[in-house]
Amino acid sequence: MSIEPFEVFAIRYAHHGKRHPAENFVLADPHEFASDLDYFIWVLRRNDATYIVDTGFGEEAAIRRGRELFRSPAESLRLLDLDPHKVTDVILTHLHYDHAGTLDQFPRARFHLQDLEMAYATGRSMCHAGLRLPFDLENVLDMVRKVFAGCAVFHDGDTELVPGLTLHRVGGHSAGLQILRVWTRRGWVVLASDASHLYAHFQCGRIFPVLYNAGEMLEGYKLLDRLAGSPDHIIPGHDPLVMQLYPAARPDLEGIVVRLHATPSHSVLT
Ligand SMILES: [Zn+2]
Ligand SMILES: [Zn+2]
Repeated sequence: MSIEPFEVFAIRYAHHGKRHPAENFVLADPHEFASDLDYFIWVLRRNDATYIVDTGFGEEAAIRRGRELFRSPAESLRLLDLDPHKVTDVILTHLHYDHAGTLDQFPRARFHLQDLEMAYATGRSMCHAGLRLPFDLENVLDMVRKVFAGCAVFHDGDTELVPGLTLHRVGGHSAGLQILRVWTRRGWVVLASDASHLYAHFQCGRIFPVLYNAGEMLEGYKLLDRLAGSPDHIIPGHDPLVMQLYPAARPDLEGIVVRLHATPSHSVLT
């Protein structure tokens, strides 16, 4: 039986520039190039299903954390003719502020996340300022509210949501971080989210400084390799190169929405 491929889109909603190398890499050379970070949410779409991956952050968090917000992540779904109020399934890769804000803008959605991420974001690790830094309390409370409203779907490790879409816990950067493997017309594409912020992380085995467990982060790079059709099928979570490598969803969406199910303009290996 053949599986219907998904279309996969990345929507760029925010940016952070003028970064210091040590903000991107543990043991960074202070003279090396420091990439900016882009911020994305992702959309998976085929005839029988639509999934939104992550919900981004809103204006208040952008101002407080000094990020440049281009557009509301939820409202940006309308660029692909999707109504956030009608979204039924949101996959949260993890609960950091830039991936799990504005949950209230998806009133009809079920939220898929790993058991371990909820436990991590509400348990003893949050007693440590360094570990809770990437979380915003209001987002975590909103997720607890979703649990109490019966709108959370918990996963433990590897799960097949539907044929052609699986979730895999990586941990590393956040204890319950999960990645996605999606069947597309060019084969298995892996949305790495923060399992690899930039191409350089998985390509060179570099460690991002926001970290729970370095061993799990490094093992995660091997998992990306195993799950993806090739290194060109791995989509890092924050790399501005993604917008250059993949074609726009429509001419008017240049620099805003790209098609990850399309072949990249050149290989990341070259
Ligand atoms: Zn993160
Ligand atoms: Zn992130």
